[in-house]
Amino acid sequence: AFGADAVPQAAEDPLFGLMAAYRKDEDPKKVDLGIGAYRDNNAKPWVLPVVKQADELLRKDPNLNHEYLPIAGLPDFTSASQKLILGEDSPAIADKRAVSFQTISGTGAVHLGALFLAKFYNPPVSEAKTVHVSSPTWANHNQIFSNVQLPMKNYPYFSRETCSLDFDGMISSIQSAPTGSIILLHACAHNPTGVDPTQDQWKKIAEVMKEKHHFPFFDTAYQGFASGSLSKDGWAIRYFVEQGFELVIAQSYAKNFGLYGERAGCFHFVTSPSSIAQDTIARVGSQLAILQRSEISNPPAYGARIASMVLNDEKLFAQWEEDLRTMSGRIMEMRKALRSKLEEMGTPGTWNHITDQIGMFSFTGLNEEQVQKMKEKFHVYMTKNGRISMAGLNTNNVDYFAESMDSVVR
Ligand code: PLP
Repeated sequence: AFGADAVPQAAEDPLFGLMAAYRKDEDPKKVDLGIGAYRDNNAKPWVLPVVKQADELLRKDPNLNHEYLPIAGLPDFTSASQKLILGEDSPAIADKRAVSFQTISGTGAVHLGALFLAKFYNPPVSEAKTVHVSSPTWANHNQIFSNVQLPMKNYPYFSRETCSLDFDGMISSIQSAPTGSIILLHACAHNPTGVDPTQDQWKKIAEVMKEKHHFPFFDTAYQGFASGSLSKDGWAIRYFVEQGFELVIAQSYAKNFGLYGERAGCFHFVTSPSSIAQDTIARVGSQLAILQRSEISNPPAYGARIASMVLNDEKLFAQWEEDLRTMSGRIMEMRKALRSKLEEMGTPGTWNHITDQIGMFSFTGLNEEQVQKMKEKFHVYMTKNGRISMAGLNTNNVDYFAESMDSVVR
């Protein structure tokens, strides 16, 4: 017998618990700062104008059908995705050193990469077959890598004192990891802290990783959404590729296209310029195809068709860049508004980190007890670690949120 009676109860996903509590709350002042999805200034989901346009064009296409996509996904989508993240004139594209698979959004891309590494990564010493992730990191990283039985370790990332990067801790941890370790890096808009290395810091990270022959695993879920500039948010990955690293990239279109539920994403494997290019890429691709086939057979079509249409059309692309500036701009405005309100009230503490941090999330520095008070007294919902989704703030609730924060830190 299976013995299902012995299956233990799993812990509830903390974010889902938070959302349920928010929905139940009947106070009209309630504020949802848990959700990791963009909201407009009226706290409503936002369909990007460019996505609406692409959707209408798609629906008019008489040749559209519901056949399976190829195992690797929509070719126009995967090649445009390579260009988007690596840059049009990337040496990796020119040398045909990249192979790409369409995935179930960013989560599926991280999973495909994790599975591939678990099966084929062959470092010089066996202890190096370990994924080093930032502390903290996106909670799902831990589950995805443990599901494929890749051991994990943490490197320091966030300083609670300064609410900014613990760069020395990060570097010395990466330096002391066994030669050839897998290092997971958030390309931009680190989740959950909102703290990114500067370009000089990235250069140092690359230098140390090169010395140690570490393997970079980039997770990019916020390109264009963070700063409003696709190239700025893709800078770190492009720099690592320029430096000749062999690396992988998990790319999500959930946030930057607002295609959350459509599950559009891409996994890229880039070999180093010193490898025997064509042949290696073909072999890697052949194995990825088997993994993909056994996991999902072939990826979902709809979201990828929308993204592909935009990525491959100059006019739509320009509209998309405009939409990205709308989203990132509104978030930056909210960062400024929150900081200046706190400073105006003389709320104890320093608040520059609110505007120094970038992307969807901010680590406010509130502790668990203060977060609890925010919920009980003010109906403000945020995760226990003090993270807020900036997208949940708008001109109608930012002052109320700042006043609540002021009250709980005093
Ligand atoms: N990686 C990071 C760091 C994220 O923050 C997210 C989304 O929150 C993802 C990956 C993947 O999300 P999705 O599977 O919706 O693309």
